Amino acid sequence: MKRKSIERHVATKLFFLLLSGYIFVTIVLTSLYMLNQFEEIKQRGFSNQKMLLTALAPSLGQVTFDGDLDQVESLLQGIIESPSITGIAYSDITKTMNVKLGIVPDYNLINLKDYNIEIGFHNINQFEINSLFGLSGNIIYNDSIVGNVVISSSKDIIFAELRSVILIIILGMLIQAFLLWIFFRWVSMVYLHNRLTDIINGLNQLETVTGKFTPLKVDTKEQDEIWAIQKSFNRMASKLQMSHNKLKAYNKELEEKVQERTAELEKISITDRLTGLYNRHKIDSVLESEFKRSERFGSSFSLILIDIDNFKSVNDEHGHQIGDEVLIEISNLLSCIRTTDIIGRWGGEEFLIIAPETELEGAILIAENIRSKIEKHLFPKTGSITTSFGVSSFKQGDSINHLISRADSALYTSKEKGKNQVQYK
Ligand code: GH3
Ligand code: MG
Ligand code: MG
Repeated sequence: MKRKSIERHVATKLFFLLLSGYIFVTIVLTSLYMLNQFEEIKQRGFSNQKMLLTALAPSLGQVTFDGDLDQVESLLQGIIESPSITGIAYSDITKTMNVKLGIVPDYNLINLKDYNIEIGFHNINQFEINSLFGLSGNIIYNDSIVGNVVISSSKDIIFAELRSVILIIILGMLIQAFLLWIFFRWVSMVYLHNRLTDIINGLNQLETVTGKFTPLKVDTKEQDEIWAIQKSFNRMASKLQMSHNKLKAYNKELEEKVQERTAELEKISITDRLTGLYNRHKIDSVLESEFKRSERFGSSFSLILIDIDNFKSVNDEHGHQIGDEVLIEISNLLSCIRTTDIIGRWGGEEFLIIAPETELEGAILIAENIRSKIEKHLFPKTGSITTSFGVSSFKQGDSINHLISRADSALYTSKEKGKNQVQYK
């Protein structure tokens, strides 16, 4: 929708620019033509007046000489009947015969202005005063001036004549503008609208491209600007497509790397560095979730706290390094618990097993198995090592701290009672 209005705007703008240019040129040319026409018609008017005066002069001289006023009047009457003549005036040299028919300007004004044209037996002055134009001249009879005559026409008659010409020209201009518009619409559809729409569609396609970009196919029989746009657009689009594909591949690779790295970091964040078991942080969160689960569903779960017996002396006798190795070895032995149980390093040489869905008896049994397994194990560098156990089990109304402190207290009892044994609370 939006696209169409943009295209229309371009075509309409172009058309109005063309139309304004056309109208301007037509008006200028028409005005020049009209001026020329006006001048021509006026000159024809002068010739006509000259012809009439030339024909009239001998008779007018004769009747003036005869002193026949009626004849003078009827001669002038004949002239005024010509449709292009608006007025005629005559007076003899003695001012006894004064005849004025129609509209003529003041004779004094005429004399001051114009020039003389010599045509044989009388002089003629050509004048233009306001809307009137015409001739004045002296009537000569027997080589002496007997009177003077003024004949005039109106410029309004010429304007009226030209008005119809102007109307025809304006009408012609409107018809031409209309035909031009139809032609321009057609041209703009074929050369602009259709081809621009192809380009716009291509651009829109590029905007939403996810897969393969299909090149633009604009109607380009001629190698014009639109053809050039299409060419560079396709070139740009294929480059863009390539970058897009590269970016996609790179993104995928990056995403995989991020996932890998995140998993690695996640693992690091919950693992004890030395033993590879869960660290205290993870154990704490498992404890919390198991506790909530038991509280909610009333299921049982147990804790087994393990402490290596006399570990200080292992360090003292064999060195810290060997102490670490023992910690790792015991961790490996502890790892062989049931898959549902969770084991982590609780602190220094202490470990905690969380046994979900396990009653106290079951947990004691597990602890006993581990204890005997460690007791029987041969530690190559230190000889036999034993461990003490404190077991506690979740009771309704318990708290995490209570549960842990019961396991801790049981462990303390184990130590007190001679170590290498399982106690519970
Ligand atoms: P008990 O039988 O009463 O538990 O005696 P114990 O010597 O094991 O107990 P104590 O708490 O006195 O000593 C624990 C020792 O564990 C102290 C510390 O040096 C050692 N230890 C704690 N963490 C590490 C560790 O990461 N590596 C090594 N090598 N030793 C550690
Ligand atoms: Mg300890
Ligand atoms: Mg110890």
